[in-house]
Amino acid sequence: MTYDILILGAGLAGLCAARDLAAGGADVLVLEARQRVGGRVEQVTLDDGRIVQLGGEVIGNSHTAYQQLVAELGLTLIPSYVAEPGELTYVLHEGTFVGDTPSWFTDADHASMQHVEDEFATLCATVDADDPWSHPDALALDAMSVTSWLGVIGATPNVCRALEAGQLGLSSGSFERTSLLALLRKCASTSTKQLYSYDEWENMRVAEGSATVALNMAAGLETRIRLGSAVRSVKVAPSGCTVQLDSGEMISAGALVSALPAGPFRDIAVEGVSDERLASLHRQRHALAAKFVAAYDLPFWRDRGQNGLTESEGILGSSWPQNYGVLSCLVPPERLAAYLSASAQHRREESLGELHDWFGPQALTPIATFERLWGTDPWTQGYVTHWRPGDVHRVGPLHGTHEPPFYVCGSDQWVAGYMEGAVRTGRAAAREALARG
Ligand SMILES: Cc1cc2nc3c(=O)[nH]c(=O)nc-3n(C[C@H](O)[C@H](O)[C@H](O)COP(=O)(O)OP(=O)(O)OC[C@H]3O[C@@H](n4cnc5c(N)ncnc54)[C@H](O)[C@@H]3O)c2cc1C
Repeated sequence: MTYDILILGAGLAGLCAARDLAAGGADVLVLEARQRVGGRVEQVTLDDGRIVQLGGEVIGNSHTAYQQLVAELGLTLIPSYVAEPGELTYVLHEGTFVGDTPSWFTDADHASMQHVEDEFATLCATVDADDPWSHPDALALDAMSVTSWLGVIGATPNVCRALEAGQLGLSSGSFERTSLLALLRKCASTSTKQLYSYDEWENMRVAEGSATVALNMAAGLETRIRLGSAVRSVKVAPSGCTVQLDSGEMISAGALVSALPAGPFRDIAVEGVSDERLASLHRQRHALAAKFVAAYDLPFWRDRGQNGLTESEGILGSSWPQNYGVLSCLVPPERLAAYLSASAQHRREESLGELHDWFGPQALTPIATFERLWGTDPWTQGYVTHWRPGDVHRVGPLHGTHEPPFYVCGSDQWVAGYMEGAVRTGRAAAREALARG
């Protein structure tokens, strides 16, 4: 059977592309490897009705494409964990400190942090998020790690440590292995153009559950999605494109939209796309992470003056309350090997043990726990895009662009990943394909 356009992957990006293409009159089919839609957004419902997110959850002020989509779908944005009462918990190897500012900081550290923030904002204002390659010092900024830059501007060891703990908490890959230009580009995509802050990037969530965004789009697409259809190879030509599934079945179309993450895309044999573009796509990579969630009857951390938000140097890099009484935790790339070296039962015990150390004995008795090993999941092979020093140039200006009839979308194709990247690029790919008829 022949379609106008085949879309590979039913994550947020693929679903957005399919929704807009179908609305524009195209005959589309979405091919999805898993037996569910949503990709990196996934949710389950507890017996008491609370919805638990196992993938992407929160969005920020500059995530305007996502906000627009949520409004179109009639869903509701509400404040995220940033509205939780209490203070942040820092877990260092030598102890646990509760307080929104690091209590182990000296006056010199506070002054140094201010200096880092000012220097970063000044530099960030010079970077064009859509075209970081045009910066006069682009190569040098890309070659330098964030940690090296902190050394150059004289950040104190405590400031470096606090920033690294925050980065481990986000699980986006250590600053020792993150391109300065990539971080500048990411932060240049916001209106504040400042270092990452929870209030700017993570202050809202969808009340109905973030995976409901994907589920609602899928409901509107009905029979245009085929689950359990893993793509093995694609052939692209102006005269028509062909996709072969793992089952051996061939499906053809006038055009293709790849909405796959970087890792699974590398596993697919692609013909008819230029070597330069394939090389650029194949240079993209992810930070590999896992998510652990513990659901409790009550948010007991509040009684201790804690808001459930943690930045930690332990195996769990972070925690935050995703819903009433429900704590999300991320296992950062730097800790994933240690985490995976234990059995599922021991991973659970050790994770609850860390939560016990942070929040007290009630942490040991959740009503349910969940784990998603996104970093080793064959259909994700990661978590979010990671840019090592030099990667902005290795991927290059072809990043996020199309080679009709081959189109790309997905959070990896935007400056900073996130659900925003999936929505923004999915809708942009649909617009461009429709414009080309
Ligand atoms: C634990 C976790 C927490 C996160 N937290 C946040 C957050 O709070 N806020 C935020 O904005 N973002 C967050 N993110 C990132 C965000 O969820 C993703 O960037 C976004 O959902 C990716 O959407 P996508 O459509 O680009 O890719 P995906 O959702 O990965 O979709 C790709 C789809 O392609 C399918 N696929 C793969 N290979 C094949 C194949 N060969 N054939 C057919 N189909 C295939 C996959 O099964 C999947 O459904 C988080 C991600 C994770 C994992």
